[in-house]
Amino acid sequence: MTRKTYYGPIIDVSFDGAVCQHAGECVRGMPTVFDTGKRPWIDPGNADDAALAEHLRAVVGRCPSGALGIVEHEAQA
Ligand code: SF4
Repeated sequence: MTRKTYYGPIIDVSFDGAVCQHAGECVRGMPTVFDTGKRPWIDPGNADDAALAEHLRAVVGRCPSGALGIVEHEAQA
């Protein structure tokens, strides 16, 4: 029920633990960002260039439950 946001340099990731189905798509897709052995277990700080951020968007897009979401930063002028 409570959605938390984890902040990164390019994009942020939001997560609602009540919705997560523990399918593991995120952990398999990008273990440098999603690591259940760490606290916090989501670290968008490791998606710190454009290619990694694009990969993170794709992995979040495969989350089957909708627990994960991408929060884009405002475009820099
Ligand atoms: S991909 Fe989505 S549903 Fe699966 S473990 Fe990650 S957050 Fe949970």
